[in-house]
Amino acid sequence: MRHTDAVKKRKVAVLGATGTVGQRFISMLVDHPWFELAVLTTSDAKAGRRYGDVTPWHFGEGIPDGVADMRLEATDADLDAEICFSALPGDAAEQWEAALAKTGHHVFSNVKTHRMDEDVPLIIAEVNPDHASALDVQRQRRGWKGSLVANGNCSAITFALAAAPLHKAFGIERAVVTTMQAVSGAGYPGVASLDALDNVVPFIGEEEEKMDEESKKFLGGWNGKSFTPATFAFSAHCNRVSVRDGHTCAISMSLRGDPKVAEIAGTMRGFRGRPQELKLPSAPERPIVVRDERDRPQPIRDRMAGNGMSVVVGRVREDAVLGLKFVVLGHNTIRGAAGASVLNAELLAAEGCLGA
Ligand code: NAP
Repeated sequence: MRHTDAVKKRKVAVLGATGTVGQRFISMLVDHPWFELAVLTTSDAKAGRRYGDVTPWHFGEGIPDGVADMRLEATDADLDAEICFSALPGDAAEQWEAALAKTGHHVFSNVKTHRMDEDVPLIIAEVNPDHASALDVQRQRRGWKGSLVANGNCSAITFALAAAPLHKAFGIERAVVTTMQAVSGAGYPGVASLDALDNVVPFIGEEEEKMDEESKKFLGGWNGKSFTPATFAFSAHCNRVSVRDGHTCAISMSLRGDPKVAEIAGTMRGFRGRPQELKLPSAPERPIVVRDERDRPQPIRDRMAGNGMSVVVGRVREDAVLGLKFVVLGHNTIRGAAGASVLNAELLAAEGCLGA
């Protein structure tokens, strides 16, 4: 199926629909031109309940029309939807994601469970759309009728999207990343308010390891049989800060050839990917917005750039130790989670990877 043929609305399910990422999925899918929001799942105890009665809805505008009255279903391998967007906790993802792919569903997951599996593509639609070819191997090897595609950890997506054009144009040799991650990254109710307010917590479980391995998978290749991770040296410091939405990464890196700051900023500014070529419904016009003001990006001012789908880069300058430094901000529940998954699904639908 080509992009222009993608007119039939495909039924979609949101798995983990009451949670932080599940709510983002709903807000992005409720009026989607290609997808019809058909199924919302919950843990077994809330199955059968009305969505509006059990959901602590996070957004000021209220639960979209029609969604509050939907009945929640328990997650099940036979649910009636072609595409499943997973915002499940890890243990539920372990139980259901592969089972759903086996029964013919196309699963787009936000969960860490299968991200590093050797036949699961971990995709940022602008960065490594070619990794979708791994689905042929996946279906053959696992005997699945459906498929499983993952998107990454929210900070890894933010870093890798900004770094991708630099890695392609010059080659990254080393990168050191310090994150300042929003509380919504921990889900709902997430970090206790007495730990979060007036504080910085210099530890987020497994986050530094995920940033390392996932960034290298995103920026690496697919050789037809296996993924070939990028090989630059990488170090992450991950911190939880008292910000509601939006992960900020302060990055120092060394690039091959020692390019000038203006060339680096121009490379990021000019970056476009397959979603922009195809004009996919959720694709931002500019995946990377580069700002020249000395005090940007900032979460409260910049996290909704490109409807939350652009990452915003600023403070691109020379670094006395590694050569280059800059700051990048990404909206963790949109570009770093639900929006990334929806864009992946649009891409694969448009490229004919999900069947007619
Ligand atoms: P969350 O707010 O805790 O939401 C998870 C939801 O899953 C809960 O609302 C839970 O509530 C529901 N659930 C539990 N068992 C279920 C089952 N068997 N079937 C269906 N639903 C079930 O967490 P989150 O932040 O949305 O994160 C969801 C996933 O995305 C996690 O794996 C997380 O690591 C990942 N992720 C999160 C972010 C972020 O920025 N928050 C970014 C990237 C990835 P009920 O009991 O009400 O059903």
